[in-house]
Amino acid sequence: MNTPFLKVAVVGSGISGAVCASTLARNGVSVTLFESARGPGGRMSQRREKTEDGKELHFDHGAPFFSVSKSEVLNLVQEWQSRGLVAEWKEKFGSFDYQTLKFNNMEQEGLSKKYVGVPGMNSICKALCNESGVESKFGVSVGRVEWLDDAKLWSLIGVDGQNLGQFKGLVASDKNIVLPRIAEVTGRSPPLDLKLVPELSEKLHNLAARPCFAVMLAFADPLPSIPVKGFSFQNSKLLSWAFCDSSKPSRSTECERWVLHSTAEYAEDIIAQTGLKKPSDTTLKKVAEQLFHEFQSTGFNISQPIFKKAHRWGSAFPAVSVAQDEKCVWDKSKRLAICGDFCVSPNVEGAIESGLAAALKLKDSVSCL
Ligand SMILES: Cc1cc2nc3c(=O)[nH]c(=O)nc-3n(C[C@H](O)[C@H](O)[C@H](O)COP(=O)(O)OP(=O)(O)OC[C@H]3O[C@@H](n4cnc5c(N)ncnc54)[C@H](O)[C@@H]3O)c2cc1C
Repeated sequence: MNTPFLKVAVVGSGISGAVCASTLARNGVSVTLFESARGPGGRMSQRREKTEDGKELHFDHGAPFFSVSKSEVLNLVQEWQSRGLVAEWKEKFGSFDYQTLKFNNMEQEGLSKKYVGVPGMNSICKALCNESGVESKFGVSVGRVEWLDDAKLWSLIGVDGQNLGQFKGLVASDKNIVLPRIAEVTGRSPPLDLKLVPELSEKLHNLAARPCFAVMLAFADPLPSIPVKGFSFQNSKLLSWAFCDSSKPSRSTECERWVLHSTAEYAEDIIAQTGLKKPSDTTLKKVAEQLFHEFQSTGFNISQPIFKKAHRWGSAFPAVSVAQDEKCVWDKSKRLAICGDFCVSPNVEGAIESGLAAALKLKDSVSCL
């Protein structure tokens, strides 16, 4: 028996890929996981930055928290909580109206439990990618996947042409693995040619997503005039949310840190002017300035930050859900699962459900081989 051929490849270490990989491994299927980024998490990453005088800062610059309504996801989250990977963020939330310059709906924004990874949002994916049976390779971008019809195996090739191995099954956990539009960002064709799976291409060819800019701010002193630690905005063309990152459990409180999220319309407008390629420093500086200025114009006493930086999420929130019933896209004949939040709902819970569904499909089909 040739062990590597029993493996499944998972592309992507966001929460859907990480949940899928660890679930497969727990069920006796060995997994090799490939992630382009230096670390795990995808849109649940944590960003490490430094102030000019060398203070280290951490920001959850993607998903700030998540909520759970489905029992199968709650079971997992409770297990993560018992392992110390997740905690409840119990601070007060609100909704701020720019027209009246007042808060309203204080209770509504705070109704469901808010969970965060500890000490960072990426802690969950980090732990799952390290579980026994999961071999994780970070900083490895999968450039091409090929179906070897004779051997009935998937062959993975890196962006630099390196052979990444052959696998019995494949999980693609990012829509960019199949979207032709990714060529406008990377200059390369998507790794998986949808012609290989024509029956799936209709579902997948037009996966729209909405962008968002996140601005990370650190202040030397706390901002006591803001009465809540997270709030949405009404009647702002620029801002959708603000979160006090340093108020989450198990974070450093040395500097007060906030993360602002732009509206999708604002981000789309900037992208229309600058294109889809990686934004320049000048663009990011302009965005950071504009969003911070909007934050200041709430009228709270907000001092100049000691750190201010913008990050662009080109595809922050999928605009469609392509597999609400099945929860992942599945080709049984080639043992190919495509999972992620775009299959179920544009949030962490949807991504978890999708990763679990993909693991179930793969586990059943690989174990009959
Ligand atoms: C600003 C922002 C705010 C958000 N707010 C919330 C919120 O309040 N609550 C909530 O529940 N959700 C929120 N979300 C959404 C949530 O983050 C996502 O729904 C979820 O994290 C998606 O997980 P995923 O596994 O589907 O995808 P991703 O996290 O995007 O993971 C895909 C991974 O695949 C990797 N990858 C792609 N192509 C390749 C390749 N060729 N080779 C190797 N690796 C590859 C990527 O690098 C990435 O790490 C927010 C997201 C953003 C950006």
